[in-house]
Amino acid sequence: MVAVRVGAHLSIGGGWAQLISDAVSLGCETVQIFSRSPRGGKARPLGEGEVAVLREGLARADLHPLIVHTPYLVNIGAPEESKWEYAVSVLAEDLTRAALLGSPWVVVHMGHARGLPPEEGLLRCVRALDTAVERAGTAGEGVTILLENTAGGLGASVEALAAVISAARHGGRLGLCLDTCHAFAAGYDLRLPSGQDDFLGRVRRLVGSDRVRVWHFNDSVGDCGSHLDRHEHLGLGRLGRQAFALLLAQPELEGRPVILETPVKGPEGYRPDLSVLRELREGG
Ligand SMILES: [Zn+2]
Ligand SMILES: [Zn+2]
Repeated sequence: MVAVRVGAHLSIGGGWAQLISDAVSLGCETVQIFSRSPRGGKARPLGEGEVAVLREGLARADLHPLIVHTPYLVNIGAPEESKWEYAVSVLAEDLTRAALLGSPWVVVHMGHARGLPPEEGLLRCVRALDTAVERAGTAGEGVTILLENTAGGLGASVEALAAVISAARHGGRLGLCLDTCHAFAAGYDLRLPSGQDDFLGRVRRLVGSDRVRVWHFNDSVGDCGSHLDRHEHLGLGRLGRQAFALLLAQPELEGRPVILETPVKGPEGYRPDLSVLRELREGG
C-alpha cells in the first residue's frame, strides 16, 4: 500500500475553531472545505484574526494540506455569459482566499456546455481558467487549480481534462483532482485492475502522474457508465471495498491527500468511512 493522507470534506459553518476540532476528533490528517457558502452568493471577506485562528489550528493539529473546493454552482463551461462570468469571478476570488488561508489547491469541476458542441465548451473552460488566474494576479500566487473529473458533461474523459490543460496559457497553474465515483460513473471500471490500468494509463500518458494532486474517495450509487453523480459510503456502493484497496496500491496515490465526500449529515457521519480508509491503508 502507498502512504496517503486521509481526510474529509468538512463544513466551516460553525467557524474555523470548530472546523479544526471536528477534524482532530475524526483523526483527519488533511481537510477539504468550501471557503464560502456552497450555494453561491457573495463571499464574506476574511478577517486577519480568523485567518490566524485557522492557520495556527492547522499547524498545531498537523492538518495539511488544506484544500479549497469551489461552490457547486460554478460552471466554467457555461454557454451563458452571465453564468460564465460568475464562475470566473468565484474562481478568481477562491484563488485569493485559498492563498490567504494557506491552501495550495482550489478544486473546480469541469463544467457543462449545455447546448454547445463539446469543443466549444472546452474552450470556454480554458478561457475561464486563464481569466481567473490573471484576475487573481499576485494575490492568488502559489495556488494551483485542480480540475476535477466529472460523471458526465465536459470533464468525464481524461482526454478532455488533458485537452484543457494543454490549451491553457497558464497550464503550469493547473492540475487534477480525481474522484472515484465520478470516474466510475463516467465509464472507467475501477473495480477491475484492467479498468484502473486503463484510467490511470491515460492519466499518465496524457496529463502526467505529477499533476494528480488530490483524490476524492467516494463509492457510487450508480453503475459504471451510468453518468450518475451520487456518492455512497465506502464499500456500500457499486464500486465496493476492493476497488479502493486496489487503488491504494497505485503509484498515483503515493503521498496524496485522499478526501471523503460521502453523504453525511454532520462530521460524525464520516467515522465509518475513515475507519475503512485507515484499514485499507494499513493493508487490511
Ligand atoms: Zn467536487
Ligand atoms: Zn469529488
